[in-house]
Formats: sequence, C-alpha cells, structure tokens
Amino acid sequence: MTNQDDFISTVSHELRTPLTSIRGFAQTMLASWDKLDDTSKKKFLEIIEQQSNRLIHLVENILSVTKISSENLVLKKIGINESINTAITVIKQKYPEHKIIKDTKKDFEIFADTEKLQQILINIIENACKYSENGTEVNIKTSTDDKFVYIKIQDEGIGIDEEYTQKIFEKFSRIDNPLTRKTQGSGLGLFITKSLTEKMNGEISFKSLEKGTEFELKFPVYNIEEHAKCSVGH
Ligand code: ADP
Repeated sequence: MTNQDDFISTVSHELRTPLTSIRGFAQTMLASWDKLDDTSKKKFLEIIEQQSNRLIHLVENILSVTKISSENLVLKKIGINESINTAITVIKQKYPEHKIIKDTKKDFEIFADTEKLQQILINIIENACKYSENGTEVNIKTSTDDKFVYIKIQDEGIGIDEEYTQKIFEKFSRIDNPLTRKTQGSGLGLFITKSLTEKMNGEISFKSLEKGTEFELKFPVYNIEEHAKCSVGH
C-alpha cells in the first residue's frame, strides 16, 4: 500500500463512522416516527446534528491536509498579539468554562501569514482546552531573545507522554485515553499545525509540565534587511 492508499483508506473509515450514525438515527426516526416521544426525537436530532458537525470539521481538515504542500502562504510583517487575541475570542466562545489568561505585554513582529498564524493558534489553544477539565487555566505567554519570538501555551490537562513526541504530529494520530475518547477529533490538527508552522520558518514542540502540557511555537523575529529580500508568497 502506498501512503496515498493508506490516506484514502483512513479517510474513508473516518468518514464512514459519523455517516453510519447519521443514517442509523434518521432511519430509526422514519421507521418509528409515531412511536417515538418528543424527547427521543429531540435526542436523535441532536445526535444527527453533532455527527454532521463532526463530518464538516473532518472534511475541512482533510481539505487542509491535501492543500498544504501546494499552498502559497502570503508572508508579511505582522504583530503576533492581534492573532493571539482573535484566536482567544474564537476559543472562548467554544470553551466558556476555561480561564484563558494572556501575558503578552509587548507585541512582537514576525514574518508570517496572518490567517495561517490564526489557524495554528486556534488549533493549539483549542487542544489546550479540549484536553483539560472545565474550570482549569490556559496560559499564553510570549517572549523574545532578539533572534526568535516564542509563543507558549500551557494547560493544566491530562498531559502527553514524552514517548509520543513524534507521533502526535503525524496524520490521524490520537493518543488513547479517557479524555481523548470523550472528545471529538480527527488527529489531523497537529499535523496541519506543524506543516503550516514550518512553512513560515517556525518550529513547534511540546513538553510535559507537572500538571499538563506546554506547546511552544518559535518564529524568527522580523528582520527588515533579511525580509526585504523575500518576495511575497512562499
Ligand atoms: P485531534 O483532532 O485528535 O485533537 P490533533 O492532531 O490536534 O488531533 O492532536 C493529536 C492528539 O494529541 C490528540 O488526539 C490528543 O491525544 C493529543 N493532544 C494534543 N494536544 C494535547 C494537549 N494539549 N494535551 C493533551 N493531549 C493533547
């Protein structure tokens, strides 16, 4: 089997699970409409909605994966704080119970694609919330050593065993544990995040904390002389 065959067979399997569930609940409702009370009907429709959302998310991620190698990024000078703020606003709506705390007094400039930087930050901050309990903190810190800009996202969640250092960045890889089983995901988010980060000359890594995980994004500081030579597009 080629990598392409592997990809197609995994994608088909991943698509089939929610589709089977949507069809099953729709068939049950059609066959037993008169016998079902309103509460059951509502519950079945909620499952159909949930599974449809899962499918949409999956298809969006699969499209991102297939586009990545050919995609042209629009790199320009940007301050990171605006992207961080946008990502926090998006995630706060989805995870209102988490305390997302930002320690980003100074703004730092990097050479990046605004939309893709937002996608990267949304993925990492969403994971920080997804794999930790409601009510816990997610801390976002930025710093620089004049060569690189660092964005650190710390959570108080279930943590990641160091043995998965490479694996979690691979396509479709999810670590089996109770919280992963409870949450929906495709295992494509970190693959996409790593690819986009590297396309912007950045690096991504993680380390375990006493409680939880810290993801670190590292991008070269915007340097006017160096970047003046680069054309737009990458
Ligand atoms: P998913 O769609 O499953 O969230 P990702 O590629 O974003 O896919 O992440 C891959 C796996 O890495 C997840 O399924 C989860 O097991 C693990 N993971 C990612 N981020 C975290 C985190 N902050 N804490 C604990 N586990 C994490």
